[in-house]
Amino acid sequence: MSDKPVLIEFDDVQKVYPNGTVGLKDINLRIREGEFVAVVGLSGAGKSTLLRTINRMHDITAGDLKIDGNSIVNYKGRELRNLRRSVGMIFQDFNLVNRSSVKRNVLSGRVGYYPTWKSSLGLFSAEDKQRAVEALKRVNVLEKFYTRVDELSGGQQQRVAIARALMQEPKIMLADEPIASLDPLTTAAVMDDLLSLNKDLGITVLVNLHSVPLAMKYADRIIGLRAGELVYDKPIAEVSEDDFAGIYGEQAEAKGGVVNG
Ligand code: ADP
Repeated sequence: MSDKPVLIEFDDVQKVYPNGTVGLKDINLRIREGEFVAVVGLSGAGKSTLLRTINRMHDITAGDLKIDGNSIVNYKGRELRNLRRSVGMIFQDFNLVNRSSVKRNVLSGRVGYYPTWKSSLGLFSAEDKQRAVEALKRVNVLEKFYTRVDELSGGQQQRVAIARALMQEPKIMLADEPIASLDPLTTAAVMDDLLSLNKDLGITVLVNLHSVPLAMKYADRIIGLRAGELVYDKPIAEVSEDDFAGIYGEQAEAKGGVVNG
């Protein structure tokens, strides 16, 4: 991995929320193209904040954040739109439009490529409809094309959310606790989908996880946060499950290292 160019670069990044809460403290981090990075840590450690600075859902308050060598902190207008197009994101609660069809939800991933009036009228090109079919095929839910999202299982909804994000043709995929609402079987399916985006499409993946065993199974590299600070950063070959006592403290379960909430 070390020969690939640096894609995401945090330099002394701080994030203080308007109410004074410190989200991130002195983060220095370089992520190379094609890495699959798991971010672990207790609830409130800053995992979600870290991910959301990358697509500018949250603005940092000091330091610099570069993507492809360009500082993104002052991006506005077109530059910001292009950034958000190149960074896909999925969430714990899927963030789909429940009363709409799978097709409509997935096509909405393409809105960054259309003027607003066209996308709001649902005027998507035949090429993009085909793109939606391919994206759904990749995550094995094509047979649900015309189904309403609220008729799907949680795992299927997350896979639709992945398909929607794929429509952006992202370079980076952020996954914020993507499996926290899923059972073990669907967890594996969703993590396998993320792995295939990484390995087959070369998309750089950052995923927030509570589960160290899952991080160890899927990631190339694990980083750990505690109280907004980067306290752990190792390639998977050097990771040992015992390392995580320091990140999870006495709240870690003795077995498995899984921490809920
Ligand atoms: P994690 O994803 O690891 O659970 P978060 O990034 O959500 O952690 O939160 C990090 C810290 O920032 C926590 O103390 C949290 O309460 C705080 N925080 C998160 N979002 C906001 C917000 N919008 N306003 C104020 N504080 C926030």
